[in-house]
Amino acid sequence: MATGPLERVLESIENASRAAARPAARLVAVGKTREAGEIAALAAEWAALRPGSTLAFCENYVQEAAPKVAALEGSGIEWHLVGHLQSNKAAQAAATFDWVQSVDRPRLVRALAAARDPERPLNVLIQVNVEGEAGKHGCAPGEVPDLAAAIAAEPALALRGLMAIPEPHPDFARRRDAFAAMRALHARLREAHPGAGTLSMGMSADYELAIVEGATMVRIGTALFGPRSTGDST
Ligand SMILES: *Cc1c(COP(=O)(O)O)cnc(C)c1O
Repeated sequence: MATGPLERVLESIENASRAAARPAARLVAVGKTREAGEIAALAAEWAALRPGSTLAFCENYVQEAAPKVAALEGSGIEWHLVGHLQSNKAAQAAATFDWVQSVDRPRLVRALAAARDPERPLNVLIQVNVEGEAGKHGCAPGEVPDLAAAIAAEPALALRGLMAIPEPHPDFARRRDAFAAMRALHARLREAHPGAGTLSMGMSADYELAIVEGATMVRIGTALFGPRSTGDST
């Protein structure tokens, strides 16, 4: 039987995790512009390969995700938001997603907490601008402790760890440096917040390197769905 992309990616994740002597990193499939039907097909493939476990699926925009989440209600998918989130969309995000990976400022912490039922806390990751890139979202590494304390103080939020989207340097040594800096930051965070065990970093081109450098969650689009089409309406 032919091996599909999902099976190949899961195998690569498991091999890289084993080589790093760590539990298998979690895959989050990234949809970009994928339609609900394509996501449902992936969920079916997932259920066949990993019966009983939950598919995590990532969207970049709240408004694009909301109708897909509604259409796929009951499919058991765990929905993650990874894109920049404006505070005025926090209420919709809190109602739509199971995880928000892009929390990077106190105002957003308050807005998400105010909109979420504390009986069902929202899982959040702090997004870190680890290389200090100008104009890039994410908090500065030095802001992580205060932001983590603010999240931990909100019963409606569950602090789960850190997320980064480092620059895709052609030079992999530089990518490795960024991943290693995140790993060190994450280790410090866990001293104060033992439950914040997630380190989300690594995409199609570099997830194996990210796992070697400590990623526990990788976000993968292209390797699952093929290259993003530009201007292709089919
Ligand atoms: C698109 C995207 C990914 C996945 O990227 P691929 O290279 O397609 O695997 C991961 N994280 C974020 C934040 C993204 O926007």
